[in-house]
Amino acid sequence: MRRLYVAGNWKMNTTRTSGVDLATAIAAKVPAEGCPVDVLVAPPFPYLTAVSDAISGSGVKLGAQNAYFEASGAFTGEVAVDMLRDVGCDAVILGHSERRHVLGETDETINRKVLASLEGGLPVILCIGELLEDRKADRTEAILDEQLTGGLNDVSAEQLSEIVLAYEPVWAIGTGETATPEQAQAAHAYTRDWIRRKYGDAPADAIRIQYGGSVKPNNAAELLGQSDVDGALVGGASLKADSFTAIIEAA
Ligand code: 13P
Repeated sequence: MRRLYVAGNWKMNTTRTSGVDLATAIAAKVPAEGCPVDVLVAPPFPYLTAVSDAISGSGVKLGAQNAYFEASGAFTGEVAVDMLRDVGCDAVILGHSERRHVLGETDETINRKVLASLEGGLPVILCIGELLEDRKADRTEAILDEQLTGGLNDVSAEQLSEIVLAYEPVWAIGTGETATPEQAQAAHAYTRDWIRRKYGDAPADAIRIQYGGSVKPNNAAELLGQSDVDGALVGGASLKADSFTAIIEAA
């Protein structure tokens, strides 16, 4: 039985004060022991330390929204895996559709980041998902295949246990348009099957696959009720403590 995992991707939102207030309110609902669901918040880089303090002693984990694949050096504006671990990050989100489609990241870059994070001991939430034009052209599975092949290149079965996948159909992100539970389940089942073909039964049965794309308190229970949906990666609704905790409670 896979443990559900609800993560809040704050993207480029909040101030230091509002971020700390949000994290504090979420932490109050997530005890260090006994919470049946894994919970993570991923604030912008400048607020990682402040949010780390705010969630200290609770069951909430800290995530970063990106990492660079080099360990140190002349890479202006980039942030290394060790730096993220140093400020208390428990995981990093990689391959988000905004990194792919707005910031121009390729599967190859994402793969280098995945490998650097795993080698540095930082668990990864690896995002995959198709554009609307791909879905309309019946290319959803081809895109997932391409992104999984690229993103997981050279990742061993042992390393895979430190990866959570997040299926985020790009057309459902920030649009208010959610994949139907059936569409989500079909993509998740394809993804798990892909893992089964490459890594075998035990890794496929163990890996958690979050759904992301307009998850809200009123649709969370149905999405999370699908057999291959093991949690949620929440954007907009993770910026309000009561919405985010309602999604955690629905899980
Ligand atoms: P929304 O929940 O705002 O659609 O964002 C989803 C997302 O991109 C999470 O990473």
